[in-house]
Amino acid sequence: MNTLTRFAPSLTGYLHLGHVLHMIHVWGVARAQGGRVLSRIEDHDLARNRPEYEPAILADLQWLGFVPDLGISAENSPKPSNYRQSDCALHYEEALNFLVKKKKVYGCECSRKEILAKQSGGQGELCYSGTCAEKNLPLEGHTVRFRVPLGDIDFHDVALGDRRQTPATQCGDFSLRDRNGQWTYQFCCVCDDIRHGITLVVRGEDILDSTARQLQLFHALEYEPPHYYHHPLLTTDSGEKLSKRQRPESITQLREEGLLAEKIIGRAAFFGGLIPEPALLSAQAAGAMVKT
Ligand code: GLU
Repeated sequence: MNTLTRFAPSLTGYLHLGHVLHMIHVWGVARAQGGRVLSRIEDHDLARNRPEYEPAILADLQWLGFVPDLGISAENSPKPSNYRQSDCALHYEEALNFLVKKKKVYGCECSRKEILAKQSGGQGELCYSGTCAEKNLPLEGHTVRFRVPLGDIDFHDVALGDRRQTPATQCGDFSLRDRNGQWTYQFCCVCDDIRHGITLVVRGEDILDSTARQLQLFHALEYEPPHYYHHPLLTTDSGEKLSKRQRPESITQLREEGLLAEKIIGRAAFFGGLIPEPALLSAQAAGAMVKT
């Protein structure tokens, strides 16, 4: 199989060490299989994303030496682009129309507060109980929800092995578009992976729970899903996820401080548990790195 994976940053901040660890996995897995990497911008959430991060992210990517084979790059980022979610509303509309014809979506008028109030335990991930499923509300001006099929979803993760998830009880009928017309991550991600012909999704374990939901969307849209590979996140010595406070500065900042790209990549590989500390300490480039 001709592997095609993707690097898909959001525009919610500058690249940091966690992204570099992610790039090592993405490019590493792709190149090991003689595959290619596509780069796209995941800025579907117009309220949270800031376009000014895009050139900085692409410049850092290029400076680090992670060169995409397809999609957006520092040298090729036209506006509009098929590789920038904020430019792709028509594609999402088209996919939504398909689901409407198949009666797999419905309009919902419940607020987040109302859904949380009905939920046993009250807090945690939002799990929608289907209050509006049969109300036949118009989609415009309402949240558009996907009718999540009941039952378990079994899949094989290339890194983690066999997994089982149950979207019906984890999140219920999840949202594809909010009442303001804002597309959601789950929907954009699947539509993009289909349109871009992605065969292997490489991403952090923090997004693992989205996998079965996305598999259900692939099925509903009648497309073959890609394979999935979820990698560990940056951790401390005791295995905890690095907090924002512990996480070193942005790549842009490290770069401005004069750190070499290879030193940053080595640091990410170390904090990501890919290489042992001595390998870095013995290298001259180790500098003042201290694992806290
Ligand atoms: N846009 C997501 C992020 O920046 C990646 C989502 C994915 O790989 O599916 O973390």
